[in-house]
Amino acid sequence: MRSRASVLHLDMDAFFASVEQRDKPSLRGKAVIVGGTSGRGVVSTASYEARAFGVHSAMPSAQARHLAPQAAFLSGRFEAYRESSRVVMGLLHEVSPLVEPLSLDEAFVDLESADIDTGDVAAVRRLAATLRHQVAGRTEGLTCSVGIGSSKFMAKVASEMAKPGRGHQDHVVLVEPGTEADVIAPLPVRAIPGVGPVAAARLDRLGMKKVADIRQASREELVRELGQAWGAGLADLALARDDRPVISSREAKSISVEDTFEHDLTDRAECERVVDRDAALVCARLQHSGRFARTVTLKAKMSDFSIWSRSVTMTGATDSAERVRRMARHLLGSLDLREGVR
Ligand SMILES: [Mg+2]
Repeated sequence: MRSRASVLHLDMDAFFASVEQRDKPSLRGKAVIVGGTSGRGVVSTASYEARAFGVHSAMPSAQARHLAPQAAFLSGRFEAYRESSRVVMGLLHEVSPLVEPLSLDEAFVDLESADIDTGDVAAVRRLAATLRHQVAGRTEGLTCSVGIGSSKFMAKVASEMAKPGRGHQDHVVLVEPGTEADVIAPLPVRAIPGVGPVAAARLDRLGMKKVADIRQASREELVRELGQAWGAGLADLALARDDRPVISSREAKSISVEDTFEHDLTDRAECERVVDRDAALVCARLQHSGRFARTVTLKAKMSDFSIWSRSVTMTGATDSAERVRRMARHLLGSLDLREGVR
């Protein structure tokens, strides 16, 4: 955690859906859902009009259709998304040489490396406002939310608070240094970087729903329950202590999704449903990152904790959920389920 609010996080608003609404005026003001349009697809991005019906990203498309049958369902035009992303990332590079893209539509910017006095909070806010105007100007009207804080964690929390409908009309939130721990206390544990659904469920079983609940626990208790590395890391993050640097070129080599089940799975149809859903989720994230993949790996931990793993490499790279699903299903075919999958 820095003494100044010098990490900026910019996140485009409903990016894929907004590009569609920009390019096709008849979609403006309407519920637009971009994602897998097949029966097994997942929602990649929902416009704010669609979110009003309870639709959100990573939701199965079939459920989204049920909630918002009148919405426009689109499979996505990733070349158009990549093009707008390039414009936004280019703008961020004009602000600072140190930009860390997280996906096509969000990035961290290190303002310590920018031409600005980060001690001047008013100047930092002006920079953020100017940046939003430039993004809209150069992308023909796309909007974004900007968060600034003393760490990546805080900047991300701040941009989430700046999102439409959260009460900040200018869509810029700066978390003042010294207030970090208070700002995150009421947030759900999922707000902490690295806490996914599996970790959140585990914390929930320990009675911890909010960041403040984690702070009530002692570091020793967290280490005992969650292991050394994770327990100690979580204790620090719950106090907003985050020193992760902004790293300019981050090359994700792989993207993965994993599940833990209430009961070990032995039913093939059930395993197929899990594999189908995970293929859709992993491809949604692949598409968000603007990248393509060549190798699909399926990994299973069996009831005796042994690990089974198989991979297949395709001749060309893909971001097609249907193709990845077929590969993963093919791999699943060679897994002996009698023992049970954890
Ligand atoms: Mg976004």
